[in-house]
Amino acid sequence: MKTYNLAFKYRIYPNETQANIINQTFGCTRLVYNRFLAQRKELYEAEKKSVTYNTQSKELVPLKNELPFLKEVDSIALQQALKNLEIAYKNFFQKRASFPKFKSKKSSRKSYSTNCVNNSIRIENSFLKLPKIGLVKIKLHRQIPQNYAIKSATISQEPNGTYYVSILTEFEKDIKEVPSDNNIVGLDFAMSELFVSSDNQRAHYPRFFRKLETKLAKAQRDLSRKVKFSQNWNKAKLKVAKIHNLIKNSRKDFLHKLSHELVTKYNAIILEDLNMKGMSQGLNFGKSVADNGWGMFTTMLQYKSIFLGKQVIKIDKWFPSSKTCSFCGSVKTKLALSERVYKCDECGSQIDRDLNASINIREVGRTLLAY
Ligand SMILES: [Zn+2]
Repeated sequence: MKTYNLAFKYRIYPNETQANIINQTFGCTRLVYNRFLAQRKELYEAEKKSVTYNTQSKELVPLKNELPFLKEVDSIALQQALKNLEIAYKNFFQKRASFPKFKSKKSSRKSYSTNCVNNSIRIENSFLKLPKIGLVKIKLHRQIPQNYAIKSATISQEPNGTYYVSILTEFEKDIKEVPSDNNIVGLDFAMSELFVSSDNQRAHYPRFFRKLETKLAKAQRDLSRKVKFSQNWNKAKLKVAKIHNLIKNSRKDFLHKLSHELVTKYNAIILEDLNMKGMSQGLNFGKSVADNGWGMFTTMLQYKSIFLGKQVIKIDKWFPSSKTCSFCGSVKTKLALSERVYKCDECGSQIDRDLNASINIREVGRTLLAY
């Protein structure tokens, strides 16, 4: 028997009071992170040596006394914020990342994590019990099997205001593990095609899917021309909702087939751990990034591969997969988004930008698999 982890993500619907506490916790965890970062930064600049920290909950006591409102929120979430800082520090000192940055209210991802202690996080019918928040309404589109133990929960809010929870579970199972045997593929996230693989496969969304999107756009235009709350408006609204649902379901079907195909074909799949919100803001892609199904797709790849004894490895998002030449390994300092072909100044190679990135991702994964 071996222990495996699997995460389940759900939409949650906190009431006003609960949303207030959740937002307060976002703020408090950010404050703890920034306060300790400031302290450590000062220390680092004074001594310039690599200090790694083993955070302990007692470190928080003086800050809590200074700022009593910190005592109102989930204390484990505050400790978790310190842990995250510790990880950011390790990544910096082990040269995997730049120096940790301060989190800002505007540009940082709104989320906090908390651990399950004595059944403190649990599902009760259509509600999720969270420490300090109580029972929050949850949309359980997928059941967590009974023999899976809940380890932690990450509560987040999207820029459009909706709330989600990602529940990390642990379970034991006898799965025969498949060695990678160099049957490895790298996937580079692509805006329009979902991904480009290191074997130059592209996840072409089926044509009917594009047709549905055109249909949806037309239905939305029709709706906008109707008098609000009139009978015709109601009809048009229903039509929009129907097409939405059709798109959602056909996307899901398509992603199921595609993920099945990949986990059957390859023994190990390597992808980048993208922060979707960071991406959609940074690159101005807006809504479509979150909509193109990448998150759902990677979740499917993960759980499907676990049960086949295969591996999905997420590599650090700060790895410069696009800027590195997959032939000679030299790294460009600048690469504009408009440059669709990677031209290496060192060795003169030319290769499709996304294909180059996916090969780099596969190679990083290969080194990780060797351990
Ligand atoms: Zn090169």
